[in-house]
Parts: sequence; C-alpha cells; structure tokens
Amino acid sequence: MNDKVCAVMLETIQGEGGVYTPKNDYLKKVRALCDKFNALLILDEIQAGIGRSGKFFAYENYGIKPDIVTLAKGLAGGVPIGAFVTTEKIAQALKPGDHGTTFGGNPLACAAANVVLDTVPNEKFLSHVREVGKYFKDKLIELQKKYPEQISEVRGEGLILGLQLDKPKKSGAEIVNECLERGAIINCTAGTVLRFIPPLIITNEQVDEVVAILDEVLK
Ligand SMILES: *Cc1c(COP(=O)(O)O)cnc(C)c1O
Repeated sequence: MNDKVCAVMLETIQGEGGVYTPKNDYLKKVRALCDKFNALLILDEIQAGIGRSGKFFAYENYGIKPDIVTLAKGLAGGVPIGAFVTTEKIAQALKPGDHGTTFGGNPLACAAANVVLDTVPNEKFLSHVREVGKYFKDKLIELQKKYPEQISEVRGEGLILGLQLDKPKKSGAEIVNECLERGAIINCTAGTVLRFIPPLIITNEQVDEVVAILDEVLK
C-alpha cells in the first residue's frame, strides 16, 4: 500500500475462490489502510450481496463501509442486470450518460430489481436467510463430523456456504455430478470446495434433502 494506490478492490466474501469469509477484522484493517492512503475501497458483492450472507450487503457483517459496491446476479432475481452503488461524493464524478451501455437502465430489468429491492431488505426475509443458513451450516458440520477423513472445514455466512474437501474418495467434480444425478444441484469451486448458494427462499426440509443426498454420495 502506498500513495500511488487509487483503490483496493476485493470480494467481501470470496465466492469462486472457495467461500472464504474475512477473519480477524481483516476488512476493518483494509478500510483503515485505504483511509490512511486516500484510496477507495471497492467491494465486489455480485455473489455475496443482495441478502445472501443474511444481511442485505455482506459488508454489514463486518462493521465497515466501502466507497463503491458492485452488484449483479441476485439484484433482479435472475433477470440480467449489473450495478454499482457509491457515495454522494464519488457519484459527483459521473454524470448521467457517462457510463452508458446498450441495455443499461432498461425498464424490464429495473422493474425486476425494484421487486427484489422491495423484498430482500426486509428484516423478516433476511432473518429467514440467517436461520436457514445456520441450519444448513450446522448440518454440514454434522457431515464433517461423520466424514472427518474427507471434509476438513465448513465455511460461509448465511446462504453462501462451502465445504472444504480433504483427500475425498471422489473428486469434487464427481461429487457434483453424482449429486446432480440424485436431484441436487451443487457446485465445486477452487477444485476442492463444494459450494452451496441456494435460492434464498430455501426451506429446512429442502436443506435436509440436499444433505441426505450429499451423505449418500460421500458414503
Ligand atoms: C459472477 C461474478 C462476477 C461477474 O459478474 P458479471 O455481472 O457477469 O460481470 C463478478 N464478481 C463476482 C464475485 C461474481 O460472482
């Protein structure tokens, strides 16, 4: 870090990288360094934002505020859209039209995003994400206890969860395929991390189904 750095950009919770949550006040320390060197902190919340972590913005879990947040994926509930959100001060640098794209600001995608923005930030919706997320994580921890020789760690926040495989009998890709054959769509990132990013309206019963399938496949 030095005076020449204009911005630091990172994911609040790493998704493709293997579902890593920031620990030991990491983000607070990054925020402090950015302030010290007058650099912007840009958080990519395309995957972890929009309620997935149990808070509307994932950074709300870590007691900091970024200068810019990027959003997409869940923002319009599956209709393609991308956005960045910033402070009043930084927004002064852009005027309408500066950042034009062919389909930018299109009414269909924005109408879909408005429904998401009317729904997901509600405390009742977010507490569901936290409750099911905790239920899911606890079930994965039970699996870890059952298969300690195959699973070394369970990570994540809310409904972005990762299960770290360690010398599993089958590869991550094989486990994903066998789960799919049995009706559960999961995926594997970073080679050895099974990742669970289900719809935020998933129920405990549906979590039980996925965990039962995973149990069979690991066995
Ligand atoms: C999917 C994803 C992207 C890419 O988003 P686009 O809207 O396709 O540009 C960027 N960052 C993260 C963390 C993602 O998960």
